[in-house]
Amino acid sequence: MTLWHLGVAIECVQGDITQQADMAAIVNAANGALLPGGGVAGAIHRAAGPGLAQECRPLAPIRPGEAVLTGGHRLPNAHVIHCLGPVYGVDEPAPALLASCYRKALILCERHGAESVAFPAISTGIFGYPLAPAARIAVETVLATLPACPSVKRVRFVLFGAADLACYEQVLNEWKSGN
Ligand code: ADP
Repeated sequence: MTLWHLGVAIECVQGDITQQADMAAIVNAANGALLPGGGVAGAIHRAAGPGLAQECRPLAPIRPGEAVLTGGHRLPNAHVIHCLGPVYGVDEPAPALLASCYRKALILCERHGAESVAFPAISTGIFGYPLAPAARIAVETVLATLPACPSVKRVRFVLFGAADLACYEQVLNEWKSGN
């Protein structure tokens, strides 16, 4: 589904974050060392090739809530934005740290002129953040940050599973009916 806000298309789709060829930037649910690892990070590094890990090395480590930008290497995207989400139950305050990832990623898009960006559900895999509250933070933070990012015209949430997509659609529908 697509929701329009301030002339920006907010989309949510089921899919693979490495297959978003029409997006200028994709976001990596990174680990602090910016190493390949599993989940989203593993998939992104596999698709990007070894040049990505090489570019990441001098940028690591990053702390929870931080975001750094690299090139896309063999990915079809110009940029990869690596965000370190909070480990649920460990990094506190988790909601603020998760919100910071989305906010800082959008601000990096603005700074680098990226008009479109695709996000995975940061922290909701290995890091254990429950999907529904994470989805609410993702959507609310993006909507609240867009006024500071006039270059960004398209934001896509890419969910791996059908249940995850349904959860995001519900959050977007609730927001739509409240505004
Ligand atoms: P984190 O360590 O931040 O929890 P993960 O990579 O373990 O990050 O998972 C984050 C979310 O991304 C999970 O909901 C997971 O199901 C989903 N996911 C895993 N692989 C992909 C992929 N290739 N594309 C999109 N989403 C993915």
